[in-house]
Amino acid sequence: MISSSKSLVSLLLFFITSVGFCQKIESNSLLSDLKFLSADELKGRKTLSEGNLKARKHIQSKFESMGLKTHYNDFLQHFTFESSREGKTYERAANVVGFLPGLDSRKIIVITAHYDHIGIGRKDSKGDSIYNGADDNASGTAALIALAAYFSKNQPQHPIMFAALDGEELGLQGAKALLKDFPFPLENILLNINMDMISRNENGELYASGTYYHPELKAILTNAAVGMKPTLKFGHDLPDTGKDNWTQSSDHGPFFDQKIKHIYFGVEDHEDYHRPGDSFENINPDFYVNAVNLILKCTLALDEKLPNQ
Ligand SMILES: [Zn+2]
Repeated sequence: MISSSKSLVSLLLFFITSVGFCQKIESNSLLSDLKFLSADELKGRKTLSEGNLKARKHIQSKFESMGLKTHYNDFLQHFTFESSREGKTYERAANVVGFLPGLDSRKIIVITAHYDHIGIGRKDSKGDSIYNGADDNASGTAALIALAAYFSKNQPQHPIMFAALDGEELGLQGAKALLKDFPFPLENILLNINMDMISRNENGELYASGTYYHPELKAILTNAAVGMKPTLKFGHDLPDTGKDNWTQSSDHGPFFDQKIKHIYFGVEDHEDYHRPGDSFENINPDFYVNAVNLILKCTLALDEKLPNQ
């Protein structure tokens, strides 16, 4: 009796731990969001372009249909900035920002992904001039939508802000603007989870960068990633290592500058990085769906394990 009930318990545990988690993200809508955002019709989503506004609308309507709350009109946090490189002022760029209250905390987790990309540019050898930005960063944006959908049905412990950021390619402008116009004191931010380029890697590796600065997060993430694909790697966060240090490479940079903890999920650069070939056909759907499920599992673990006050 004892041994059989014991084995029943361990069988159950096996199902809960290994099978129980498997694919919680709705993969069809994840992939169709990525496909829509990186389609030629959106022409590379450069800030304030027609395609960028279409992407913005798409995210807005998704957040609205999930019943997310927001601290801004119509989910839009507008901002204006100068691009010194282009000698141009961008007026009324916009982050799309949704919010879910938590069950038991005032400390907020801010999940970010930039939805802008670099638009139309120089033709490649195939005559293609649309820089679709499928991996960079329709992949993070569609993942942000999928995570919001998951948590809108499974309330987190901590409040979560879901911020689709604009102007990243023009100097992390959306992240800077969000922190300047944040609806709570910045001390209330527990953690920034940023996603930028998460849909392909030939070695089956996804990085969680930033644990050099926050070693206490590493054990939580390592545990969450046991038995999961892709392989979760740590690194690209040592100071004074030049290009190999990703600490300022995407929207988690302005959070780091404000001394807010961050974890950045991303892959190493590939041959289509900032080229017209960064298109939907060239992402790896299996890698991508697994990566987003892994990020969800890490987010759930952080939400569970990090302090509430
Ligand atoms: Zn990017």
